[in-house]
Amino acid sequence: MSNSAKVEIIAVGSELVSGLIQDTNSAYLAARVTEQGGEVSRITVLPDSREDMLEVFEAALRRQPAVVLVCGGLGPTPDDMTVEVLCAFAGVDGELHEPLLQEFMKRRGFTRREQITANLLKMATVPRGSAVHTNPAGWAPCVELTRNGTTFYLLPGPPRELQALFSQHLSEALARRSGQRRVSRRVAVTMHESEVSPHLETVMAEFPRTYLKAYVALRQDSEHALPVDVVCVGQTEESARDTVGLAVARLRELVEGAGKALTVATG
Ligand code: AMP
Ligand code: MG
Repeated sequence: MSNSAKVEIIAVGSELVSGLIQDTNSAYLAARVTEQGGEVSRITVLPDSREDMLEVFEAALRRQPAVVLVCGGLGPTPDDMTVEVLCAFAGVDGELHEPLLQEFMKRRGFTRREQITANLLKMATVPRGSAVHTNPAGWAPCVELTRNGTTFYLLPGPPRELQALFSQHLSEALARRSGQRRVSRRVAVTMHESEVSPHLETVMAEFPRTYLKAYVALRQDSEHALPVDVVCVGQTEESARDTVGLAVARLRELVEGAGKALTVATG
């Protein structure tokens, strides 16, 4: 895997590591990045702690992925420290982003600067030198900052906002970086995991950079077929889809050759 397609995801929030809130943002981002041809190489979940965040940012930078997606900790409350930590990490000051501030004033109907609340000032403060992508579904923007060839994107925690920002500003940029797309199809086979496993290996060997995975935990019981994902890359979505078709056909041939059945699964 070349570093140019590598993406790390970091989810920040004490409520996540304590199990109070499920980290759905990482799963969403991982799925979207994978579709856009990126290779998610690591997902880290950590509490709202300056030391932990700094340590995790530095460790990520040492691995030199192309992109680090950080979500959470961009709100107005004292436990929201992601911008402050990125400033310390990058060795830059935080500065008020004037166009963002103007937009906040317009959205709130403010005419004078004195009307701006401390909350809005905090969310309009970004590391010096960063690019800012406005949030179509909330206030805290996406902040983009590159260090040593690794681009950090900070995304807000609320899933609706993160998803809107990702779709509007990051999805295309990540697809351009990777120069490829990935498509997956779920099928089901009337085999045990140990029986199908060598056939999955055969298909992966015949179709380079194709990934097949059987999900024993998703099988309802031994009477039901075993779900299998077939995941392929291509230069375009269409070519990835074509490869998926060929890989599924080959797997079907192997499964049927062993006297068993393969169906395209519904879930
Ligand atoms: P934050 O910006 O970290 O204060 O998060 C704002 C809201 O988004 C809170 O309700 C969080 O619980 C929620 N949130 C933050 N991170 C995640 C995540 N990784 N997955 C799902 N929800 C999250
Ligand atoms: Mg938080």
